[in-house]
Amino acid sequence: MKQTLTILGATGSIGISTLDVVARHPGKFDIFALTGHRQTAKLAEQCARFAPQFAVVADAQAAADLAARLKTLNVRTEVLHGVQALIDVAAAEEVDGVMAAIVGAAGLPPTLAAAQAGKTVYLANKETLVVAGALFMDTARAAGAVVLPVDSEHNAVYQVLPPGFTAGRLKESGIASIILTASGGPFLHTDAAALDRITPEQAVKHPNWQMGRKISVDSASMMNKGLELIEAHWLFGAAAQELEVVVHPQSVIHSMVRYTDGSVLAQMGTPDMRTPIAYCLGLPERIEAGVAPLDFGRLGGLTFQAPDFDRFPCLKLAYEAMRSGGSAPCVLNAANEVAVAAFLDGRIRFTDIAGVVAECLAGGYSDGLGSVADLLAQDEKTRADAWAAVTRLGN
Ligand code: NAD
Ligand code: MG
Repeated sequence: MKQTLTILGATGSIGISTLDVVARHPGKFDIFALTGHRQTAKLAEQCARFAPQFAVVADAQAAADLAARLKTLNVRTEVLHGVQALIDVAAAEEVDGVMAAIVGAAGLPPTLAAAQAGKTVYLANKETLVVAGALFMDTARAAGAVVLPVDSEHNAVYQVLPPGFTAGRLKESGIASIILTASGGPFLHTDAAALDRITPEQAVKHPNWQMGRKISVDSASMMNKGLELIEAHWLFGAAAQELEVVVHPQSVIHSMVRYTDGSVLAQMGTPDMRTPIAYCLGLPERIEAGVAPLDFGRLGGLTFQAPDFDRFPCLKLAYEAMRSGGSAPCVLNAANEVAVAAFLDGRIRFTDIAGVVAECLAGGYSDGLGSVADLLAQDEKTRADAWAAVTRLGN
């Protein structure tokens, strides 16, 4: 049966990979809407190729720009703008599935709207679960929305969980723990003293994955693995002590499930996001993704080591925020988004990212989980606190 899709964040790394998979299966998918914030040239090109009914951008200026480009290309896609338009195209009646691939907490409102409308949510936007995990999962459950993890680690876990697994029932399913693998990023072997001098260009050069700039910096600081722990906590209902992280620099094993009988099941593949994307879009079938087959002859070896919490304090901060609960993960995420943006702008040092996050967490958070409005208010307050910290640290 044909599936009608909205792709939130179509112009980003995950969005582009999603459209690549879609294009390999003519007749399988219809595109209802594509969204792309301010990348109007890329979005116009995508509209010309995939003929969505709607395209959504950030504001009136970007909308005028996109409309002019579409006119030149003779494309009939209707242009909308703003957060409400993102929500509308995510929740529209015509839509079956929503790829949630906006970066950051900005992805929360439309992703939550898709869950509320009972869509199949292909979840790449991990920040949605970090900021509002309980609320998002409860909303999805109540609306009968299916949430499928696109993040490679969580997708790997999903693939090796026992059939019929229910979130929160690890022990009953014979599972001892979920093991997330981490590449360790580009600075796995960098001397602690040299971490201070890392430039944005060095930080966004990931050894194994091609990704957007924000997640690339998160991978370099290992905050990405921290966010993923919180993501796994909510997706699979796993307690902190049921979640492990192991550094595996080759990024071939994408994650594992440790069973009580001693078995460890892993999912492997060439590091290419089109695999988890195709897995999600194709369910219950396996569909072609354009991914190079894993070449064991050239692989050499697979290695593993324990994470170094001293050199990567962001990972420790994320564990602590997960254990604290309440709005602590929301604070962690907002502070990190501001700190990463400031680092990419050359305002603070790489090592200051953890300092900004720690300072915001020390500033307090609420124990309760709260409504979306509460969480967005917390997000806004933390961003102000984080900017103040950045200004103080900055040069
Ligand atoms: P990206 O920066 O390449 O793309 C982000 C997309 O979101 C773009 O389309 C951009 O236009 C849009 N966007 C940015 N700010 C926005 C805003 N304020 N409002 C609306 N739209 C906005 O990012 P990416 O690497 O594709 O990552 C997207 C999400 O997927 C992130 O949450 C990331 O953590 C997650 N993820 C990415 C990868 C990867 O390999 N890239 C892997 C796993 C998970
Ligand atoms: Mg990941």
